[in-house]
Formats: sequence, C-alpha cells, structure tokens
Amino acid sequence: MIIDLHCDTLSRVAESSFGLAQNPFHFDIARARAAGIKAQLFALFSHNQDNNMVLRAILRQIAAYHVQLQAAAAARSVETADDLAAALSQDQLACILHLEGADALGKDAALWPLFHRLGVRSLGLTWNYNNAFAGGVLDTEPTALSPVGRRLLLELERSRSILDLAHVAEKSYYQALERFSGPVMVSHANAYAVCRHPRNLNDRQILALAEREGIVGINLVPDFVCATQPDLDRVVDHIDHIASLAGIRYVALGSDFDGADTLLLGGVEDYRELEICLKTRGFSAQECAAVMHDNALAFLTRALSA
Ligand SMILES: [Zn+2]
Repeated sequence: MIIDLHCDTLSRVAESSFGLAQNPFHFDIARARAAGIKAQLFALFSHNQDNNMVLRAILRQIAAYHVQLQAAAAARSVETADDLAAALSQDQLACILHLEGADALGKDAALWPLFHRLGVRSLGLTWNYNNAFAGGVLDTEPTALSPVGRRLLLELERSRSILDLAHVAEKSYYQALERFSGPVMVSHANAYAVCRHPRNLNDRQILALAEREGIVGINLVPDFVCATQPDLDRVVDHIDHIASLAGIRYVALGSDFDGADTLLLGGVEDYRELEICLKTRGFSAQECAAVMHDNALAFLTRALSA
C-alpha cells in the first residue's frame, strides 16, 4: 500500500488528448492501482500569469477531474474521512483535490468556500513566486503573509481544509504556521540539510511543522534530492534525516509525478523500488509502512474528519 501527497497529472492531461485512467505520463489510475497506490492528491495548477486565465484553467481541470472520476469504477473523489475509508474498503483509488498556489483566487479569500464545495480539500498558499497571499520560495524578494493571506487561512480553518506549505517562502511559512490552527503539511519537498535547494526545508522548518503534527511528502525531483548524484539512495538520505531529526511519523511521500520531465522513478509503476531501497538501508517493515502509507493515512483521516 502506498499513499502519495502530490502529483501534477491533472494539468498534464489537461494539455493532452489523454485522461487520468490511462496515459503515457508518469501516473495513471490503471498503473497506480497495479502499483498499490491507495490514495493520491491531485494538484490543480496553471502556469498562466493572468489570474482570470489561471482561474479558467483551474476550473477546467476541476471539471475534467470530476467527469473522469465519475466514469472510473476503479477510483473515486474523496472529500471526507468517510469517503477515504469507503474507497479503501472498496479497493478504489482515493483521489483528493489540491490547489497548488492560491493565484486562481486573485485577492479574494472569500472564493475559497466555493473551491471547497467543488471538492478541493487542500490549498498551497503559493507556487514558487509571491502572490496576493504570501511569499514564494523562488521569488527574489519573498513577501510576508499578507492581510488577505491571513483571511485565507481563516477560510481554510472554517472549511476544515488542509494547508500545504510547499513552495512557500520561509517568512510566510512560519507566519502561516503560527496563525493557522488546522491540518498542515508540506506535500512535496525534501531536507535542506541533505540537499541545499531553496525548495527544501531546513531543520527549523521541519521541527516547526512536526510540532504541529504536519507531515512532509518526500519528493523525487532530482534537483531537490542531490546536486551531484541524485538517485534513490539519496532519496532515502532525506527520509533518514527527517526521521532522525523529527521522528519517522512525520515522513510521507510526495512524488511530483508529471510535475517534472524526469524523476528518480520512471513512473508510478516503479514505486516499489523505493520501498526496496528503504529495506536495503535497514528500515524495518514497520518503518517502511510508516513512510509508504501509514503516516499519510493517519494525517488524511484526521484532516478530512468533520
Ligand atoms: Zn510543486
């Protein structure tokens, strides 16, 4: 059993003639099920700079997601902890919608409840650059959490949505952690102490997240894994570091399938290779289970409980 906190397959298929059920990309429902994936967060994302165009692109992706899942017997859209349990017991892939970057909301935090009604259960405040709400990790001058950013956190709390701090610049990161009382995660990032990439989390950020019972999804983008020789063994170094620093219960998986051209696995069908690598490195069966699914399942069950 595997649970993964981040893939970009929705935006990838939106620009193609393929669907979620079967495609030639990193992830499709058929291969995910065969590989033992039980739950997957699907990011809604658009590169467009114009907020109106971003909004339309995101709405198209939400529409396509629901249409395709209604037609797929092997998967279902999960919006509550009961849905999640039902999907698992009926052997359906549990699919959870995530908005990667709040740019589609423009400056309107009040739009969030609408996204929630459309089935979106998780929000990343920023992608790599500043927006109206918070600072992005790759911006040259990352901004702080703004007043509308604080308002947006209130909307997330009210709707009991998940806050994702991946891609969020450090200042906004701590401000959001301090303000937000709901479930929080970093869906796809690694440890800065192991690979000094700005998308990774430093030790202080990891400990602050763990203090809030938040989990980190370990990422398979080569640049975030190692600057010189990225491979699965180096991925395990990140898992090992976070486990030693904060505890293994805070480590989960956030592949970034279809979020980069090349990852350290060829696709979702190869996910078992990571588990084999963990075992080779001396992780016990219980520790492997924690990373591969248990931690994410506990987090999602708690987060999606009304
Ligand atoms: Zn991302």
